[in-house]
Amino acid sequence: MGSSLYEKGKTVHNKRIDGPFRRFKWLVMVVTLAIYYITPWIRWDRGPYAPDQAVLVDLAHRRFYMFDIEIWPHEFYFVAGMLIMAGIGLFLVTSAVGRAWCGYACPQTVWTDLFQHVDRLIDGDRNARMRLDKAPWTASKIARRTAKWAIYLTIAFWTGGAWIMYFADAPTLTVNFWAGQAAPVAYATVAILTGTTFWLGGFMREQVCIYMCPWPRIQTAMLDEKSLIVTYKDWRGEQRGSLKKAAKDPEAYGDCIDCLQCVAVCPTGVDIREGQQIGCITCGLCIDACDKVMKEVGRPRGLIDYATLEQCEAEAAGAPATPAWKALLRPRVFVYFGVWGAIGAALLFALGTRTHTDLTVSPDRNPPFMLLKDGSVRNAYTLRLRNMEARPRDMEVALTGLPAGAVMWTEAVSLENAAPTQVIKVPANETKVVRAYVMLPPGERGDSFAFRLTSLDEQGEQDVAETTFAMPGSK
Ligand code: SF4
Ligand code: SF4
Repeated sequence: MGSSLYEKGKTVHNKRIDGPFRRFKWLVMVVTLAIYYITPWIRWDRGPYAPDQAVLVDLAHRRFYMFDIEIWPHEFYFVAGMLIMAGIGLFLVTSAVGRAWCGYACPQTVWTDLFQHVDRLIDGDRNARMRLDKAPWTASKIARRTAKWAIYLTIAFWTGGAWIMYFADAPTLTVNFWAGQAAPVAYATVAILTGTTFWLGGFMREQVCIYMCPWPRIQTAMLDEKSLIVTYKDWRGEQRGSLKKAAKDPEAYGDCIDCLQCVAVCPTGVDIREGQQIGCITCGLCIDACDKVMKEVGRPRGLIDYATLEQCEAEAAGAPATPAWKALLRPRVFVYFGVWGAIGAALLFALGTRTHTDLTVSPDRNPPFMLLKDGSVRNAYTLRLRNMEARPRDMEVALTGLPAGAVMWTEAVSLENAAPTQVIKVPANETKVVRAYVMLPPGERGDSFAFRLTSLDEQGEQDVAETTFAMPGSK
């Protein structure tokens, strides 16, 4: 008989447990959820010309605000750099502490954990939930299911609702949303995220980790014998057997009393005693459960523990147990940390030294020049003056590298006032597009030259944009 490619999903009813890893999981859950839900409501004073939301993806004005940092579209390399850092950060975490991301901070893990607490709140702990699952659909079961799914839906709705707050002023959007005046895309986004959160966190849960997410496969390829994993120390635990059996023949049995508490608390339904599995997100809850059992039966803790395969082999051969943190001290971790830190330092340096003034120039191509009646030659350019400060600024545009007598003017300045420099007011946080005309007197020739932009304030920031001056006969 061939084996089936389809495995029927089994509902995991994980048992309540307390212990250091559970408490750490609580902490990470509260912190990550608080960051997600609260961040859009934090205000940040940037003056009258910029939004006062601390973290905002302002799609309409093509800006990304994060506290004091403001990223413009032409600075997308900062976002690319942060994404690269996030990717390398995942590699760093994996090589240092195995699948800690999966076990504690991945959104699928955090929301699944939250939904499992709702299960416990409404239906009770593991045994009660298992009984209720098998029970017929009585009025009480229908009421419980309705209450539970209503809470799922509320969490899912707030999750979707919080997401759109990152893309507009949160208080205004909330008012508009409930008044039915928000953009259709806001309602569509909330509907999609509500549906996916409800389905993935409420029903799919560990199936996402086991079948849908590519990350466990990538991580599996990255793990080696020096990687920290949650592991069952079989040389110590086997032969498993109940306390009763072990009492009759103590020599024949190991420390595992086969109580299945490690399986009962596992949020993904894994039996870690069967070895490494893709379903194990290394959350450490089975360590908490087993340590509790070992304490109750008077045996040393750590039958299930964070350890590397190398440490396990040494321990099995009789060496004393090595503290898990020693697994962090290996070259791969230092290399990843070095690369991650170098990119971070480069981004910080670029952020700290960037100017808030920028100029780009595009010469007209058709026609490239105008020959005037008196023999002078005129070229036209489109200048983009960026003022990245949260206040209007006067900026001076000057011609450099053209012969004496070259003058410029703009649409706002008449030819009579043409001069080698012009002062232009650029509104706060804006790019001002200016049509500029440059004229060379008869007999003079131009070629490459530059526009120099200088902010007329205490900062005196400058940017230079090089371009060319087209003449009759020039290529
Ligand atoms: S909790 Fe510990 S003692 Fe109980 S079955 Fe799991 S490994 Fe064995
Ligand atoms: S086997 Fe242990 S570490 Fe792995 S997911 Fe289950 S409880 Fe968490």
